[in-house]
Amino acid sequence: MTDAPVGPAIQLTGVTKSFGDNEVLRGISLAVNPGDVVCLIGPSGSGKSTLLRCVNLLETPNSGEIVVNGTVVTDPEVDIDGFRRRVGLVFQHFNLFPHLTVLENCVVSQVKVLKRSRAEAVEVAERNLARVGLSDKAAARPAALSGGQQQRVAIARALSMDPELMLFDEPTSALDPETVGDVLAVMRELADAGMTMLVVTHEMGFAREVADRVVFMDGGVVVEEGPAAQVITAPQNPRTQEFLSRVL
Ligand code: ADP
Ligand code: MG
Repeated sequence: MTDAPVGPAIQLTGVTKSFGDNEVLRGISLAVNPGDVVCLIGPSGSGKSTLLRCVNLLETPNSGEIVVNGTVVTDPEVDIDGFRRRVGLVFQHFNLFPHLTVLENCVVSQVKVLKRSRAEAVEVAERNLARVGLSDKAAARPAALSGGQQQRVAIARALSMDPELMLFDEPTSALDPETVGDVLAVMRELADAGMTMLVVTHEMGFAREVADRVVFMDGGVVVEEGPAAQVITAPQNPRTQEFLSRVL
């Protein structure tokens, strides 16, 4: 018996999404291989967040297919809640529970959703807080932390659910510049540890150094994609060149 072939962790084929008559995604096809980091770049309004939200079924595509680790998530029969549990999501705004400690923020969903015992959930949370360098903040409330620290808690919280892959939507865009580096360092370690990641970001240094592939989107289509060194350092398409000349 041979092993089943390992397909992409995330595969989009011809995905379209409209809001009214605003066609935001116009036939997106892309793949993220297991363990790879793909950075999605492009101007504001190009559909990056919508694409990410479609992967997590926070939006339903109008047409096309999305497959995540073998599950056809665009199948109307899919168990949406069960599927979402398998995907970690980190937004620009971290939305920690303000009334809970950092540790509890990482514990509650494990107990409620995964039905873990409290003792196990605490152990997992402590392990992930250590991973993001915040063991010493476990008893603090989110408001006592910097934005970058709060975002690292949000990452620890997502990791505590043992996700198969992580989606990041501009995780450092709302942060004070001096706290951005710590968050990117945590993401880099995750990447080094083999996590599959799809990352919307304007951090071109991160994309160049960490991404296996970079996808440039504009106007709801993939304009150019390839290895980071190629797309960022030697873009071929004039639209990519123009975008990069503004952000680099
Ligand atoms: P990006 O993340 O690249 O800035 P978005 O995916 O957020 O782009 O938005 C792309 C377009 O989709 C924008 O024109 C935006 O106004 C529109 N859009 C996004 N979400 C919604 C929504 N829930 N309802 C209506 N229009 C939306
Ligand atoms: Mg966005």
